[in-house]
Amino acid sequence: MAERLAGKAVADAMKEELSKKVVELKAKGITPKLGIVRVGARPDDLFYEGGAKKTCEAVGMAYEVFEYAEDVDQATFEKAITDVGVNKEVHGILMFAPLPKHLDERKIRELIPVNKDVDCMSVASAAKVYVDDPTGFPPCTPTACMDILHFYNIPIKGKKCVVLGRSQVVGKPVAMLLLREHGTVTICHSRTENLSAVCAEADILIAAVGRAKMVKAGWVKPGQVVIDVGINEDPDNPGKYVGDVDYAEVEPIVEKITPVPGGVGSVTTVVLCKQTIMACEMQNGL
Ligand code: NAP
Repeated sequence: MAERLAGKAVADAMKEELSKKVVELKAKGITPKLGIVRVGARPDDLFYEGGAKKTCEAVGMAYEVFEYAEDVDQATFEKAITDVGVNKEVHGILMFAPLPKHLDERKIRELIPVNKDVDCMSVASAAKVYVDDPTGFPPCTPTACMDILHFYNIPIKGKKCVVLGRSQVVGKPVAMLLLREHGTVTICHSRTENLSAVCAEADILIAAVGRAKMVKAGWVKPGQVVIDVGINEDPDNPGKYVGDVDYAEVEPIVEKITPVPGGVGSVTTVVLCKQTIMACEMQNGL
């Protein structure tokens, strides 16, 4: 039976640490604040926003929601983002994407200042992640994967790390973060040959593919650590969520595994707050 790498324990420890930092910053007259920019009211965005607000409250941070109508025009929205960017009270910006199709999202992403870009929306932020410049924030989900590995003292240096998925928001950045910590990284995607065999070679397998229960018993081996990033509706149980890993098949084989729900997703909003506090400290020369 595998050790269950629960996200809650990681999130609780991080929140305790962050609460202390917020107290210290408030003693200096600084309140870290997250700006949440949302266009329309997609249920997924509202769900994530609710989690982000709750985490801000738990650690004593401030937040403000900047909400725009679904049909907001490009010029109005560009000005809105620019205004949040120069707002001295806001230290970190979370902008929900994808934006509605009529907006030029590429252009808008670049309007988020890098020092407030706590979820890595701009090319400039991504570039900093790829050159290991600590003034650029990686997206929150890959950082959550790394925080889980660190919390449970899982060695990365020299280990075979297989990342299943090459998206800009999870696969590629988590591969870079593993490489930064001297993992030997393989990135897989929809054209990878012998996918299950490549996954089975990993010491650490990160599944970020967006396919419910795709990773089966034959894709893993004893001794592996499996981090399941997926959040998918369960095809066998509508209304319930499952990961990219078939937990029932894989858990009896591997050494450690994150559950879904209750794994990576529980840590992501805490990372958002952590990165906003880091941004606040940097902006205040601390
Ligand atoms: P995405 O943008 O759709 O990327 C999926 C990746 O998986 C792509 O690189 C794709 O390959 C690859 N892929 C798809 N089908 C495949 C197959 N049959 N075989 C091999 N590779 C395949 O998804 P994402 O945004 O990275 O998200 C991945 C999962 O993580 C989703 O379930 C999402 O809901 C979840 N997620 C969770 C959190 C969290 O906080 N826990 C945050 C973000 C996302 P190609 O590039 O070749 O197409």
